[in-house]
Amino acid sequence: MNYAEEIKERLTMADVASRYGHEPNRAGFINCPFHKEKTSSLKIYDGDKGFHCFGCGAGGDVIKFVMMLYSISFEQAITKMNGDFNLMLPIGKKISVAQRREMIRADIERKKKRKQQEEERQKQDKYFWDCFDEYHRLEFQKVHYAPKSMDEEPHPLFIEAIQNISEVRYRLDCAEIERWMNGKERNKNT
Ligand SMILES: [Zn+2]
Repeated sequence: MNYAEEIKERLTMADVASRYGHEPNRAGFINCPFHKEKTSSLKIYDGDKGFHCFGCGAGGDVIKFVMMLYSISFEQAITKMNGDFNLMLPIGKKISVAQRREMIRADIERKKKRKQQEEERQKQDKYFWDCFDEYHRLEFQKVHYAPKSMDEEPHPLFIEAIQNISEVRYRLDCAEIERWMNGKERNKNT
């Protein structure tokens, strides 16, 4: 079991930056603590992608951020984060075989859960884009095949469009909301 890996998995870069007083703005940037600047140019990335400053070139993962911020060693940084975020990792402590087994089990469980969430997200994305494509196809048909006069026989594609477009629009809206909600949920969990 690698504590650093586990810390990187459990904490997002945004969590860590916020916790230490650097709340990212809406675009995901903070004022770089590693060089003097007026406009925020340090980008906080999602998941485990860490940070990068476009001003001074500083970059790395969550642990590197804490090391640089407090000028401390790798070992000190993981110990500090373990405490500050209540991660309960037995860093520097002797652990029993049973505790070790339990940690490995929890680790496997976490990875399984993350994989499931990722699959769920991909399924949701696909569904959203299918609805999106269908909606725009119907929207096009509605306009393109509309009867030009009162006595013109309506085109089957026009009929299909007006019969289905509201329902597809509704499904598209639902899919979008669900995607947004799950995105929020994921950010909370990680
Ligand atoms: Zn910088």
